[in-house]
Amino acid sequence: MSAGETALGVASAVRSGERSAVEVVEASLAAIDALDGQVHAFLEVTAEEALARAADIDETVAAGGDPGPLAGVPVALKDNMCTEGVPTTCSSKILEGWIPPYDATVVEKLRAAGAITVGKTNLDEFAMGSSTENSAFGATRNPHDTDRVPGGSSGGSAAAVAAGMTPLSIGSDTGGSIRQPASLCGVVGLKPTYGAVSRFGLIAFASSLDQIGPFTRTVADAAVAFEAIGGHDVRDSTSIPEPVPSCVEALGAGVDGLRVGIISELLEGELASGFEPEVLQRTRDAAAALEAAGATIVPVSVPSAIYGLSAYYLIAPAEASSNLSRYDGVRYGNRVVAGDSTADMMRATRTAGFGAEVKRRIMLGTYALSAGYYDAFYGKAQRVRTLILEDFARAYAQADVLLSPTSPCVAFGFGAKSDPLTMYLNDVATIPSNLAGHPAMSVPFGTGADDLPVGVQLLAPTLAEPVLFRVAAALEAAAPAAPLPAVAAPALTDPTIDDQGVPA
Ligand code: GLN
Repeated sequence: MSAGETALGVASAVRSGERSAVEVVEASLAAIDALDGQVHAFLEVTAEEALARAADIDETVAAGGDPGPLAGVPVALKDNMCTEGVPTTCSSKILEGWIPPYDATVVEKLRAAGAITVGKTNLDEFAMGSSTENSAFGATRNPHDTDRVPGGSSGGSAAAVAAGMTPLSIGSDTGGSIRQPASLCGVVGLKPTYGAVSRFGLIAFASSLDQIGPFTRTVADAAVAFEAIGGHDVRDSTSIPEPVPSCVEALGAGVDGLRVGIISELLEGELASGFEPEVLQRTRDAAAALEAAGATIVPVSVPSAIYGLSAYYLIAPAEASSNLSRYDGVRYGNRVVAGDSTADMMRATRTAGFGAEVKRRIMLGTYALSAGYYDAFYGKAQRVRTLILEDFARAYAQADVLLSPTSPCVAFGFGAKSDPLTMYLNDVATIPSNLAGHPAMSVPFGTGADDLPVGVQLLAPTLAEPVLFRVAAALEAAAPAAPLPAVAAPALTDPTIDDQGVPA
């Protein structure tokens, strides 16, 4: 697999019979083999299954059939999505060795679109974190600088695409876990509208916030991937009944006449004071680029954004404390036999199986939900959620989409944010969309400190993904040259290889 390859490029070559899916998958597996020792994006590589599936795709093409819009595209899945017969760990010792008996809906949908799953990627344990350092199986390294984190929690998925091991990967975003690592790794990351992509088979962290979405190197690839994985699913009660909005056809529509709102709280004032100056400057540059492309820039205010972080760190742990109660050594989880009561066994199981951050969240959440504190903490946090929705509604009366930084900083070093609060502050710009259930996307836009990638965030109202893609495509077209990853598959670093991986 070459890093210059796009999912659309691969799919069109495979569909036309110009390239075989087997050859594409072999190239992806070779890139993983060559590079993953330095990056550690993958927890599991399913080479045999991928090659068998690729041979099926080639047979379909040879017989005159069309395997679908993602024909032959290698895809990496965050290891919190269930895969039948393939270990699914959530990067936790408590699930180590667990083999799900079924596939998540997204996995079924990717396959129905012709994509080929090549493996499972590393994450912060149970998706709790912003650096992938909370994985029980070792951290992932950023392909742009292996001394730095890729972001998180979907760090493995972001790194796999950034290094060119696969053109497409799938992550989950509860408070920013697709967008923040996309920003730190220099790739595109989409968190769709809550309910637009089925959560069936996604191991729950905070059910009212969790959403699945793609990582890609281009905006067009993200549109195709979103259309492939989106849509109603009767197996997820929060799945939206409307069909997935058409995004591919919106890509070329331009931004002429669109109003782009700049969220003032995330660009100046107290909240933004902790943001790196280069990150703020890239956001201003992105606004200027959109204005030059015909959009109108309007300043908007989302005042309750300043309470988003506090509300999130009550609601998400509260839901997690409930969701993670199933890992008790009886229903789920590797049992540790200890003492002479069931309670002793459960205590030993959970003590040994969960890492420090997961335990912290369970304690925070259990406390927030406890009788006597429920209304003061959980109830109040839910009311903040309503305020944020009202603020966004006012902002969207003035603007079609909103713009902000994605992450306050570029990729940071391992151990650099060792106290939990400093780490949580990473999510300040991404959390409001999760609380509102709105779609948001990170698009690479130049570099910040140490020539590392910076992403800018676009936000839109419920199911307004098409307008998000219009603006994202315009930003991509205007973006400064992207830095090359230090660890990358050949086509990204060798100009003599074209974007199909073929020597010129
Ligand atoms: N970093 C945030 C957290 O730790 C968001 C995680 C996510 O989106 N899964 O909760």
